[in-house]
Amino acid sequence: MADLDQLRAALGDIPVITDPAKVQLKSRDFYWYSPVLKRQLERVCADLVVEPRDEAEVIRALGACHRQRVPVTVRGGGTGNYGQAMPLKGGVVLDLSRLDHIIEIDLGWVRAQAGAKLAQIDRACQEHSRQELRLHPSTLKMGTIGGFVAGGSSGVGSIGWGILRDRGNILAVRVVTMEAQPRVLELEGDAIQQVNHAYGTNGVITEVEMPLAPAHAWVDLILGFADFTTAVRFADALARQDALTKKLITALAAPIAELYFRPFKSRIPDGTHAVLLMIAEPWLPAFRDFVKAWPGKSCSSVRRATPSARRCRSSSCPGTIPPCTRSESTRPSPIFRCTTRHPITCTARCTCTSASVTRSWRISSSYASMGRSPAWDCRSCASRPRSASMRSSAITRITAARSSTRTPSPSRKAA
Ligand SMILES: Cc1cc2nc3c(=O)[nH]c(=O)nc-3n(C[C@H](O)[C@H](O)[C@H](O)COP(=O)(O)OP(=O)(O)OC[C@H]3O[C@@H](n4cnc5c(N)ncnc54)[C@H](O)[C@@H]3O)c2cc1C
Repeated sequence: MADLDQLRAALGDIPVITDPAKVQLKSRDFYWYSPVLKRQLERVCADLVVEPRDEAEVIRALGACHRQRVPVTVRGGGTGNYGQAMPLKGGVVLDLSRLDHIIEIDLGWVRAQAGAKLAQIDRACQEHSRQELRLHPSTLKMGTIGGFVAGGSSGVGSIGWGILRDRGNILAVRVVTMEAQPRVLELEGDAIQQVNHAYGTNGVITEVEMPLAPAHAWVDLILGFADFTTAVRFADALARQDALTKKLITALAAPIAELYFRPFKSRIPDGTHAVLLMIAEPWLPAFRDFVKAWPGKSCSSVRRATPSARRCRSSSCPGTIPPCTRSESTRPSPIFRCTTRHPITCTARCTCTSASVTRSWRISSSYASMGRSPAWDCRSCASRPRSASMRSSAITRITAARSSTRTPSPSRKAA
């Protein structure tokens, strides 16, 4: 029988949770999706939750648990849907959510701590250099990169890049072993497969290096078909169009779409076999022409998935703004979004176009007139950018853009 008091003493100042309600919450994942697992795992609960703040604390915690013979279950975002993050034998849930730093981003790759959320990584990469993770599970917002590598397999993006286990889809992992004196291993190449999809049973991942792809402005679409065979044939034919940039093709037999995608119910008539799609915005005309050849479509709905990360840097900039003729480096890169996911806009004039043209940014005039750091308003909903860091980098870029011109733009006057 493990001595939890001795364990707590050995953990020292590493944060722990002992409140039974919170411990129970952290002992759960999405196991309840399965009625069988719901019945079997309902009572599973850890004795305490340990929340290391860095790798050194992970090493200390694992060493202490090993010495006290306390079982350890690793937890990322807790979105696994078959009880993988649940402490079947009690003991410690090792919650890695405090290890959430993005360590480095460069062209084609990102390195992050294991507890970083996938959406957080995507956002940082978009801000940094308009890149994004090649693939992610549907649980983009809650899932962590460590949890995805340890418990996931594929997802949105797999249509182009394959699955996690394909060579090159994980570049490196840093792992702490569970032994009396835990070791830190850096795994690359095929050695990564030892911990990929191993559910944390042979080590705790503390850092992950992932490849990146260009961040496109993705557009979500739903196509409806009268019969499922046609829907699948369409999906297969589209998948083979290598020149059409796409991130998702999912064929769903009726009544899955109408039952599970209720927000789109009005666009999916009962009995419709649906194909869910994500197509990169510039490829939409080509996609629409491809679709024309397919009979039996009963509905089609479009929504902008990622309010354009490239909008202000190209000819697809909203409104009537002409294409930029200057080099990439002289253009502002407005890739910021407010909490409601609208693009952030301000009235700073684009330095790369003629004096009469304004890019789609809008600055909060009250802040500017008060001489304080400007805040950026969303043109669509007037809310603020998501974080201070986003705001400050937006400010830096836009201040640079504004300093090159003094002419107030039409949209700013309107604001
Ligand atoms: C609605 C829904 C949709 C989903 N869609 C997909 C999908 O498209 N593709 C897909 O692959 N999965 C999918 N999943 C499953 C799951 O969300 C993903 O696999 C996700 O990446 C898990 O991340 P997490 O941080 O929540 O991991 P957790 O659930 O916390 O953990 C998953 C497993 O990894 C282990 N683990 C967690 N972190 C570490 C670490 N740092 N070191 C070692 N082991 C660790 C845990 O012990 C557990 O065994 C889906 C789940 C739901 C509920």
